[in-house]
Amino acid sequence: MKRILVVEDESAIREMLGFSLVKAGFRFEEAADAEQALVAIASNPPDLVLLDWMLPGMSGVDLARRLRREELTARLPIIMLTARSDENDRVRGLETGADDYVAKPFSPRELIARIQAVLRRTHPESEETSIHIGGLTLNPVDHRVQAGEVDIELAPTEFRLLSFFMHHPDRVYSREQLLDRVWGRGIYVEERTVDVHIRRLRKALAIHGYDTFIQTVRGAGYRFSGKAKV
Ligand code: CA
Repeated sequence: MKRILVVEDESAIREMLGFSLVKAGFRFEEAADAEQALVAIASNPPDLVLLDWMLPGMSGVDLARRLRREELTARLPIIMLTARSDENDRVRGLETGADDYVAKPFSPRELIARIQAVLRRTHPESEETSIHIGGLTLNPVDHRVQAGEVDIELAPTEFRLLSFFMHHPDRVYSREQLLDRVWGRGIYVEERTVDVHIRRLRKALAIHGYDTFIQTVRGAGYRFSGKAKV
């Protein structure tokens, strides 16, 4: 089931959208402002973000730009919702990196059709191929990690950490860089949080002897390498 995060400050509109999304077979998640949205996206990225242009604090446009800048959310599908139907605003909305733009008022049916179109366009099956490194397989579609044929159970943060490492093998990342890239910039957590999740990830991988893939580089940070396992 695809998860849609609705970022909208007006609760009546969130409720209406939630009703339409659930009815169309989506899972509905909500955030009342950009800050809440960033936390929700960092802890468990949705399949698509429905983003209101006008939000208190950080605007929808700024949030869209920020999501595009971060590696982990750079390709997160975004549909902007707005009361502005002016063609210039439409162009500006798309320039922020949004995948589509729907002007209020819209019919729920139209919105659902646009969501389905964006998901089809941004999630072509071929782009969601698994990554294989040294016998370890990570499948981004069903969030599955396998050591050979054996499933490894990972919590969402450990999954994202491993996913980042497997996309960027054989490079050293500092704790700060990992916080930026995996947790997201502006998410204020202590650097030792990284160590906690590295420890959990190693523990989960250790059962199958893959913990050696996650290497500590003294004074620098961590590195993932598929060359370590013997
Ligand atoms: Ca609003």
